[in-house]
Amino acid sequence: MSTIARNKHWINRLPHIFEIDDLMEFCKKYEHIYVFGRGEAQEWLVRFLDMCDVNVEGYVISFTPNEDNFYYRHLQVRNIDELIDIPNIGIVLGIPDYHQGIVVPMLREKGFKNLFTMTEHTRLGIAEQMAPRNKDEMTFEISLADHCNLSCQMCDHYSQLSDEWFVDVEQFRKDMTRMGEIYDHEIGVITFLGGEPTLHPDIIELIKITREQFPNGQLILLTNGVLLLSLEHSDKGNLWEVLKEYNIDVTVTVYPIKLDYEAIERKANEYGIHLKLSSNIHAVDPTKVVKISDKHVMDLEGKVPKAHVVHCLYFNKFNVVKDGRYYMCPVQAHIDIFNKKFNKNLEFAERDYLDIYKVKDWHEFAEFSSWWVPFCRFCDQKNWGPDSEWKASNKTIKEYTL
Ligand code: SF4
Repeated sequence: MSTIARNKHWINRLPHIFEIDDLMEFCKKYEHIYVFGRGEAQEWLVRFLDMCDVNVEGYVISFTPNEDNFYYRHLQVRNIDELIDIPNIGIVLGIPDYHQGIVVPMLREKGFKNLFTMTEHTRLGIAEQMAPRNKDEMTFEISLADHCNLSCQMCDHYSQLSDEWFVDVEQFRKDMTRMGEIYDHEIGVITFLGGEPTLHPDIIELIKITREQFPNGQLILLTNGVLLLSLEHSDKGNLWEVLKEYNIDVTVTVYPIKLDYEAIERKANEYGIHLKLSSNIHAVDPTKVVKISDKHVMDLEGKVPKAHVVHCLYFNKFNVVKDGRYYMCPVQAHIDIFNKKFNKNLEFAERDYLDIYKVKDWHEFAEFSSWWVPFCRFCDQKNWGPDSEWKASNKTIKEYTL
């Protein structure tokens, strides 16, 4: 079990992508690659290098004894003095900042010149991204409706481009029952999402099904809030009462639109609902700053290096369950909408998802979502990031290309 400290609500620390490129270049230059240090963070660094097809020969340490407990995989551990005569050796230092001042001079004095040091941010970021999550950190989102009643530029779920699509209640029941079995009914967080989830005419039923399967996990309704007040008097019942009864948290993304957010706040208080109103749902604290759209640039030729996946905010975090499949992320799960709209074929292979009816247990999800999948080659991580103030989509492919 990993002891890497992560918060299940915040995105993982994302390593600097240029430092990752430098690390890959370094590893290509030397015939023998060793990782200095021998603890959990170094093991996740080795897992990252394994994923990037770098052949790490072992760990190197400057002291004994060495403990024989491995989190990830067994690999030889050698004392630094044993490596002095090995030619063409490169050493990657996966050690904390405060050790570098001692270790780097020691290595130089012994004659090791080919050293790669990295920032503390990247070292810890690699560990957070590469350590499979523990059960209480596991999350998934499930789309209730792929389309939306807003039309935001650059939507990462492609909802402004989607035809009307609602999850089928019986498929949802079957999939949620299966997820309940796999997790033995215990999970960190499940998020109801879309598109816009409140558009689903049977949202109340879908909430009840989920809570039956996961009596204690945190359930979040992530919505643009447009329909929330009207759903106090829906044909199928009072959504607010159901949110209260079934202990559902509500997150409303704040957009620069005419919507009475204070009235939503008052309604949540009236029903005793835990509400988060935020223009940036990834911010640690709720914020009402100007809504900025992130651009998720796609490389239509699929040539993005594997190593860049550790810079992805969805990686090892935002998994999606849809129609019996467990996907890495919303981009992948909804790419059929993008393909259809723009007549493209950003395809995914069988290795890109898991069949929830074939997995043995939730550990398979944790392993899967912390390892590159072929579809990641389309995500141009170097060019992902905040782009411009929120506005309505013009529905052209330029919202997703350079
Ligand atoms: S396919 Fe991979 S790189 Fe792209 S968003 Fe998903 S996890 Fe990130």
